[in-house]
Amino acid sequence: MKSTRRIMLATVVAAGGVLAANASVPSGLKAQVGTVSIRAARLVDGTGNVLENARVVVRGDRIVAIDHEATATYDLGDMTLLPGFIDAHNHEYWHFNPQDRLHTGRDGENPVQAELSAAGEAWKTLQAGFTTIQSPGSPEDKDLRDWIDAGRLPGPRILTSLAPFSNNRLSPDSMRALVRLRKAQGADFIKIFASESIRTGGAQTMSDAQLAALCGEAQAQGLRTLVHAHSDASVRAAVGAGCTQIEHGIFVADSTLKLMGDTGTRFDPQCGLVFHNYLDNWSHFDGIGNYNAEGKASMEKGIGLALDVFKRALAVPGLQLAYGTDAVAGAHGHEAEDMVCLVNEVGADPMRVLELATSVNAKSLGMEDRIGTIAPGMAADLVAVAGNPLEDITAVRNVRFVMKGGKVYRNTR
Ligand SMILES: [Zn+2]
Repeated sequence: MKSTRRIMLATVVAAGGVLAANASVPSGLKAQVGTVSIRAARLVDGTGNVLENARVVVRGDRIVAIDHEATATYDLGDMTLLPGFIDAHNHEYWHFNPQDRLHTGRDGENPVQAELSAAGEAWKTLQAGFTTIQSPGSPEDKDLRDWIDAGRLPGPRILTSLAPFSNNRLSPDSMRALVRLRKAQGADFIKIFASESIRTGGAQTMSDAQLAALCGEAQAQGLRTLVHAHSDASVRAAVGAGCTQIEHGIFVADSTLKLMGDTGTRFDPQCGLVFHNYLDNWSHFDGIGNYNAEGKASMEKGIGLALDVFKRALAVPGLQLAYGTDAVAGAHGHEAEDMVCLVNEVGADPMRVLELATSVNAKSLGMEDRIGTIAPGMAADLVAVAGNPLEDITAVRNVRFVMKGGKVYRNTR
């Protein structure tokens, strides 16, 4: 834990001076309406700091102060308080249908059943401590996102690409027009398939000109681009096209990782949950599309390749990373598994991993001024886990308390 900075802090008060304003209020009314506090043995703030016995004061949907007052609305004892976790790649809409098989467009499930299932998946993700996810993407995400935003359904904050771009028969001009359409439809970013699936080899599918059109137009529209790319050539093509973030990259070369570090292209590899989930739940996928024997063998091979890719990526100076699990049906509620994988199987520093899933991911979403850190002024997204994840990362599996936007969604001590 050499990188850990332990700081003793005096009371930190938000710019609005909410606590200071309390001084003039009669003592009986000191606890302002809508103000709650949460205290735990340790607080990991998301940016490398550990505070012992700190108390987080929340008013409405914001953190207003961090202090050391003894009393707290929620005293969480020996737990560790963290910023709400963020998953930069999560297919919240994917679910198993009433036949307990992966839902596809032709399985007879009606739209109401499908959306209700997706709401159930969102609940599992939130209960696992993930208060924000990025979904690349399904058109159905839109209603799920909007219902959750409006407080009509419990779930993580969702950013979605809506329908991704995978049709490589379109002209660059048509693609540019479709990017503008996607923005008008309410997409938060653009998702592009530049290569095949790992189950079919991962070769480049979009041309360099098509990628340049998609990523160039998205940038002109103020939208980030996430590019699914497995082969080294497809990763390089996406980097050359100025795309924002590369997903997967299972066959990426060291020289390309270095290029990404130099160009500021963010990389979002997966550690293992996505493969283990498919293989552990194989009967729910078997025989659907490319979920065949060959696809299964590719994913079995993918386990070792993924660990190697992440290990190499962590060692590249200046390479910006993201924590995206690629959680699909069966994996929701287990999104913390890649943190465990990164520490216990890749050998990553636990503090770096916790930062990756919080403040670093917030930055990848362009939301670092709102989420990913426990600090005054930030959204009150808090998670408490039993134990100390800096000593044993498996603590992130034991989420006991979840607050999102100041609202408590889990308190199971
Ligand atoms: Zn995905």
